Amino acid sequence: MRSHLLNGLTAEHYRRSVTEGVERVAAKLATTDRPFSGVTVDALSPRIDAIDLDRPLGDTASVLDELEDVYLRDAVYFHHPRYLAHLNCPVVIPAVLGEAVLSAVNSSLDTWDQSAGGTLIERKLIDWTARRIGLGPAADGVFTSGGTQSNLQALLLAREEAKPGTAGWDEGAPLAKLRIFASEVSHFSVKKSAKLLGLGPDAVVVIPVDHDKRMQTVALAHELERCRSEDLVPMAVVATAGTTDFGSIDPLPEIAELCAQYGVWMHVDAAYGCGLLASLKHRDRIDGIERADSVTVDYHKSFFQPVSSSAVLVRDAATLRHATYHAEYLNPRRMVQERIPNQVDKSLQTTRRFDALKLWLTLRTMGADGIGQLFDEVCDLARQGWELLAADPRYDVVVRPTLSTLVFRYIPAAVTDPAEIDRANLHARKALFASGDAVVAGTKVGGRHYLKFTLLNPETSAADIAAVLDLIAGHAEQYLGESLDRAS
Ligand SMILES: *Cc1c(COP(=O)(O)O)cnc(C)c1O
Repeated sequence: MRSHLLNGLTAEHYRRSVTEGVERVAAKLATTDRPFSGVTVDALSPRIDAIDLDRPLGDTASVLDELEDVYLRDAVYFHHPRYLAHLNCPVVIPAVLGEAVLSAVNSSLDTWDQSAGGTLIERKLIDWTARRIGLGPAADGVFTSGGTQSNLQALLLAREEAKPGTAGWDEGAPLAKLRIFASEVSHFSVKKSAKLLGLGPDAVVVIPVDHDKRMQTVALAHELERCRSEDLVPMAVVATAGTTDFGSIDPLPEIAELCAQYGVWMHVDAAYGCGLLASLKHRDRIDGIERADSVTVDYHKSFFQPVSSSAVLVRDAATLRHATYHAEYLNPRRMVQERIPNQVDKSLQTTRRFDALKLWLTLRTMGADGIGQLFDEVCDLARQGWELLAADPRYDVVVRPTLSTLVFRYIPAAVTDPAEIDRANLHARKALFASGDAVVAGTKVGGRHYLKFTLLNPETSAADIAAVLDLIAGHAEQYLGESLDRAS
């Protein structure tokens, strides 16, 4: 069994196994002609159920054969140009190489004595990101598992900063007094975080959005004023730079102004919009982000990195102390005096992956401009897709894209019942998924069912978009035809 442990003696075994696995995946990527096989849960689960985990196969080739059967054949492939659904990106090769290196060396980024150079590489990438945002000389941050954790940590810091010395706050005052302001299309992790942070059920004040799905700052000002007059404590405003559904960017400069005026922590959730930090053409769309107290970035969304790769950045490094705990065995207090950089002092996690290495190899191979160019391409593609949709009488399209998302709905001329149109759109999405020809997402707008493209693949063309729109229309028409037959 020791031959399976990675060490100097097994280096050759490692090389062969990984190469065999890489060969399979490379062959798969080269030959998949659809983003999905269309497999159903009922078809796939017996194959996985039948495997006896207590009877190992032993050799790599048999294990990979089995993996083909239970996973690779039917996986959803984000690299395929007709995968247009969620905020998943095809990944860049330097990052995949990074993934292989980081798991083989298996550094843990909690302490210097488990990572050495890894710690410094992560710190340099944090500084690089903070500089791109423009957070100033005292900025810091840490890599996290994703935007959800980044938002949670940012709001933890905001909660701690809001407590002492805030007007209306006396020690022992209930957490129920704290309020977070976020738009109606902000990410649900804001509400989850509020719950985890022990805030009351009314903690998140939902601010309406305008026609372009951006937070209405007049409404925000009104709610901040009301909060103050009701003797409540404004804890944070969460501005979203790239909403998950629409890619809309809240008016950051106006929100920063209000945060300054009311002394409130400004958090910018740029999980999606962070791609603009590298953009060569559209960086100005997130102007104002530099005024944030904290920022969430998901490199695994718009920097073409494999999951997971994310970070939370803060304007003032000192605020990270709210996540600091010391353990004698790990990061004793004296190490701070000795200036030993232990990243666990800043993190909600303890053992932590060296995800930063993926971004490092990406920047060292392609440069930030390489990433920015790819992201600009998908933003431009979304603009072309919008033009196609706006000119197509079969479709109603919601907002002109700021990033790379399109939300639209099939609207047949002959059908007027909105519930029937809902069903046709729902059916089209499902039928398309079952066919495996393309994968699209869906959401609700104004209580009605819409479809969504999240375009993150520069290999997707306007012709792909046009073809998928035809497929959707075909499925929807078929459904409506059948439902006519049912009615008659
Ligand atoms: C995706 C997303 C998140 C959550 O990030 P995960 O990496 O999925 O945890 C938070 N906010 C926004 C705006 C997002 O799009």
